[in-house]
Amino acid sequence: MNKKDLQRFKKLIEDERRRVVQRIGMIEEEIQGMAASQSGNQSYSNHMADIGSDAMEQEQAFLHASQGTDYLMALEDALRRIEKGTYGICEECEEKIPVRRLEAFLAARLCIKCQSKAERLQRS
Ligand SMILES: [Zn+2]
Repeated sequence: MNKKDLQRFKKLIEDERRRVVQRIGMIEEEIQGMAASQSGNQSYSNHMADIGSDAMEQEQAFLHASQGTDYLMALEDALRRIEKGTYGICEECEEKIPVRRLEAFLAARLCIKCQSKAERLQRS
């Protein structure tokens, strides 16, 4: 990958990182809001169904937040690899990862071949 491409990807990743940080912030606010409304309503509310769905929503939000954090870490890792000059190189076979794949998945560390192999191993 040439310098121009690296610069382009660096910008893409930084933009994406900003979006993810915002999203995580929103989810965290949501979690806090839910927790606050739950503790505030506890003594009044006798609707068990409501409490149940709130808890489920909260769980979903937690899940999204942790997925977001994983993604954020992957993006930061990608930025580090840009600095080191190893971005776009498969960590497994050291082949170049096609630009189109990187555009679709900025944090890709493996080429398609190694990725599908890794997923097969994970599943079995
Ligand atoms: Zn590979």
